[in-house]
Amino acid sequence: MREMTEFGGLHAVVTGGSRGIGAAIAAALTHGGARVTILGRSQAALKARIAAGEAQSYIVTDVTNKFGLERAIGDIESKGAVDILVNNAGAAVSAPFARTSNEDFARMLDTNFMAPAIATRSVLAGMIERKFGRIVNICSTAALKGYPYISAYAASKHALLGLTRSLALELIKTGVTVNAVCPGFVDTDMVSDAARNIAAKTGRDIEVARAELIKMNPQGRLISPSEVADAVCFLARRTSGSITGTALTISGGEV
Ligand code: NDP
Repeated sequence: MREMTEFGGLHAVVTGGSRGIGAAIAAALTHGGARVTILGRSQAALKARIAAGEAQSYIVTDVTNKFGLERAIGDIESKGAVDILVNNAGAAVSAPFARTSNEDFARMLDTNFMAPAIATRSVLAGMIERKFGRIVNICSTAALKGYPYISAYAASKHALLGLTRSLALELIKTGVTVNAVCPGFVDTDMVSDAARNIAAKTGRDIEVARAELIKMNPQGRLISPSEVADAVCFLARRTSGSITGTALTISGGEV
């Protein structure tokens, strides 16, 4: 059981905190004593997390709206220092490369790469001034290796990992760490959507498609959102100041 005071006095922002991995991260940070603000598009889903006591405040925003995101994070920062930023909101598109449109590439880069870059820039000056910050980017095993039919998603996650590694070095003496968490297939809507999509395109049963995804993990199971949340908490701890620029893989041995 995590200590109640582990994140006591710290304010965390989790993008995409309304469901899936982000909701588990918000709940774990809250349980560890942090004050947590979550971002997402669905007000109802965000409100449900607050009602469950898994976060303390929320802002409805689409992270692909660059000015909206900057304004939202600026508002949060002006009301209270952001000590921990978890760039988790993400989306996936799957299609053969030839049928992946320019719009698909732009959406993947805007959601999975530009949004974390903008959110990070919006909190960074305050973190540097206070000589403390923890930035955790939820990448993917698709940031470390390729997979067929998700070229735009994998490219956006490789880009996010590149940003993570470079920024970690740029900030090396500031007290701000920047790390990536790289999960394999996690039991969330994203994987259910992927299984549905594969089934629709191949005519296979959804459960068969889901089993194909599960088989990618040598342990033969989906990873649970709380396992990813645990890794984020580890990187976000006050005592993890020497860990920066790393890509922590949670994939049951796949990578
Ligand atoms: P889900 O689809 O279950 O949840 C996505 C979350 O991101 C929701 O809270 C959603 O909220 C939010 N979100 C998505 N798009 C936007 C947007 N444009 N603006 C604001 N919020 C947005 O995904 P997961 O929980 O599975 O994924 C979370 C992260 O983990 C993503 O970055 C994903 O790439 C990564 N990941 C997931 C893996 C998996 O197998 N599931 C594996 C490896 C990495 P709302 O809809 O309310 O806006």
